[in-house]
Amino acid sequence: MGKVFIVGAGPGDPELITVKGLRLIERADAILYDRLVPKALLSRAKPQAVLIYVGKKPGGEGPSQSEINEMLYDLALRHDVVVRLHGGDPLVFGRGFEECEYLASRGISCEFVPGVTSGLAAPAKYYIPPVARGTASSVALVTGREDPSKGKRQVDFKKLATAVDTIVIYMGASSAREIAMELMEGGLPPDTPVAVVESAFFDEERFYTTTLGGLGAVRNPAVIVVGKTVERGLRLREALCRL
Ligand code: SAH
Repeated sequence: MGKVFIVGAGPGDPELITVKGLRLIERADAILYDRLVPKALLSRAKPQAVLIYVGKKPGGEGPSQSEINEMLYDLALRHDVVVRLHGGDPLVFGRGFEECEYLASRGISCEFVPGVTSGLAAPAKYYIPPVARGTASSVALVTGREDPSKGKRQVDFKKLATAVDTIVIYMGASSAREIAMELMEGGLPPDTPVAVVESAFFDEERFYTTTLGGLGAVRNPAVIVVGKTVERGLRLREALCRL
């Protein structure tokens, strides 16, 4: 019986993976991978390795989580090293933890290999820090998605608004406007700075800054950063541009 390594592939730049993660890709007998995993990493797999795409197809169809769990289990029965490759970090809005829980319940050993999460890496590309001495000392990584069973957002943005200095929103593209409204209702001023990084590290990448009051349509996938650190990042970026 083999072992499953639940690996973070990083935010899209094939160089932003850990040494451990890359070595496992090179050793793997089978690799299951997501939509946002950089293709250049897959070319590092052994020629005989089994590569299985488990992300959503353009129409939104893809294997369910229980199907993915089952595939991982079946592969672990037949191979020594199975890699489950997630975009970013496998435990930050990935299903890595659930996969490991499932495998453990069926007697399969697994291990987490962290990755660089997009919510930190995409802003960092534009010099925006999650926290910065004197400006922000707390950060929340949150999902903008609604809870499908309740039709309500999973995060209470009104409460969050003034509870932390920086808010990094994942999966918030389709509801960016509503989230901004909720944050303003919760007490954040409309001129609070916002940065948006769409498709970070991919060809379609787009970066822009705005304010909570000015936030409009956002293209998926995107990381949205709300807070004063955005301004500090912009100042640093300008200073660097002048060099
Ligand atoms: N585990 C991943 C997040 C998976 S949830 C991580 O740690 O990064 C998917 C969400 O991540 C997207 O909706 C988007 O908000 C964000 N995301 C992932 N890759 C991204 C990229 N290259 N550019 C912008 N956002 C990205």
